[in-house]
Amino acid sequence: MKTVIIGGVAGGATAAARLRRLDEQGEIVLFERGGYISYANCGLPYYIGGVISDRERLFLQTVEGFSSKYAVDARVYSEVQSIDSQNKTVLVKNLKTGEEYVESYDKLILSTGASPRKLKVEGSDDRRIFTLRDVADTDYIKNYINEHKPKRAVVVGAGFIGLEMVESLHGLGVEVDVVQREDQIMLPLDIPMAQLVQRTLSENQVEVYLEDEVSRFEDLGTTLKLHLNSGKSLTADLVIVSIGVQPETSLAESAGLTLGERGGIQVDEYLQTSNEDIYAVGDVIEVLNPVINQYTLIPLAGPANKQGRIVADNVVFGKKSTYKGSIGTSIAKIFDVTVAAAGANSKLLKMCGIDHYESYIHGNSNATYYPGALPFTLKTIFSKADGKLLGAQIVGYEGVTGVIDLMAEAIRRGDTVYDIQEVEHAYAPPFASAKHTVNIAGYVGQNVLEGILKTMHWDEFLKADKSQFVVIDVRSEQEYGMGHIEGALNIPV
Ligand code: FAD
Repeated sequence: MKTVIIGGVAGGATAAARLRRLDEQGEIVLFERGGYISYANCGLPYYIGGVISDRERLFLQTVEGFSSKYAVDARVYSEVQSIDSQNKTVLVKNLKTGEEYVESYDKLILSTGASPRKLKVEGSDDRRIFTLRDVADTDYIKNYINEHKPKRAVVVGAGFIGLEMVESLHGLGVEVDVVQREDQIMLPLDIPMAQLVQRTLSENQVEVYLEDEVSRFEDLGTTLKLHLNSGKSLTADLVIVSIGVQPETSLAESAGLTLGERGGIQVDEYLQTSNEDIYAVGDVIEVLNPVINQYTLIPLAGPANKQGRIVADNVVFGKKSTYKGSIGTSIAKIFDVTVAAAGANSKLLKMCGIDHYESYIHGNSNATYYPGALPFTLKTIFSKADGKLLGAQIVGYEGVTGVIDLMAEAIRRGDTVYDIQEVEHAYAPPFASAKHTVNIAGYVGQNVLEGILKTMHWDEFLKADKSQFVVIDVRSEQEYGMGHIEGALNIPV
């Protein structure tokens, strides 16, 4: 059997390695448009910022390693131009020589990923404006920085990659501003949690322009001027555009494969497309988000890697392994803050008409009497009907991974606020508290669900008639002193 894989990074390389482990004899040909396979795209911002100093560390495999270890015929600088699904062939262009040739397949796996969205405004073809997807983009940005030593940068788009780039540029001594179209940064979060991250940005002298967009770029010679819709303008020596990605589906379309409503390739639970000999994985497909029971795009490395393994099982054994969907569990480090989310946020649930409660708890990374405990905030979202967990968001400093992973698994399993009260965790003072944050989220959730605790959220508070109630702040005087609602009476609990 001959399997052809298009795309040689997260999903494609994983599929190739698993295929070989399962089948010693099969022929595996992997086409990659770029010059590298199986590299760490998630590490690219850190290499630009110098945290990863050795460029070679980005490469988890080389073409030579892949061919000698896995007997995979990996061909870089090889772009697949089209798929002929009738004759089961692909047309390949060697980008070094310009030569084109046809390659046949028995089974085809698409892992073509997603490409960064570009700004389509006047001046956006300036050489000082970059997007970041692959090693070539990284080298381009890094060389530009080394050569031109930019003093001011603007990052357009305040998602995970955009803000990782903010931190990287800031670490290089570049002054950075952020322009974001929406009324908050980090869209997987709800506004109160996003505000906590924004505070960190402002503590690091990063100015954020919300609800604004670049209307045009003006070349001022040594620098670029960004004109914003609001009438404001910014100057920059370097601009990173990080406004999301779109699935690379042109090949799928050339093969007549069915696309979903969100523009990704439609696959079944075996990751099989509408053509039984063609499978697809990674950023290019739509996956089921079981929380909202809808198909959506989740461009993350974890799902792509897992799907790569599953697809290989199915290519070798037929319908064997299933992909059950993704709840978009994600995490990022923004300066000294860790931000994580899983499941659906409140905005999305409202759009889907799913009734839910939101609760917040402020925990600590370990027992507070042991040195080094650092605070964090966990937002839990659960169904009004039965307390089923729908989403979690965390902003903290230490120990965030452990909490988000537990919450994500609980959400994925369909657990309720009652179930997570029972989560049994490892405890010793340097690592956690005897009551784990996840347990406490369950207790608070129960109190809210059963009406023992009535909550009022910031947006309700803003709209409420303040003459009808007294706000009592029960935190310590010190906490109150660090910031409180105007007019609140401090009576420490
Ligand atoms: P990719 O890994 O993008 O691979 C697709 C490959 O297909 C590309 O190399 C492309 O050149 C090739 N290709 C496309 N079309 C053709 C063609 N016609 N012929 C030949 N080759 C083709 N995710 C996380 O979960 N955590 C993170 O911290 C994180 N950080 C990221 C940071 C950056 C800067 C970027 C860009 C992404 C990050 N991601 C992160 C996302 C993650 O990298 C992707 O979700 C994952 O790589 C998707 O895997 P994939 O195989 O679908 O696509």
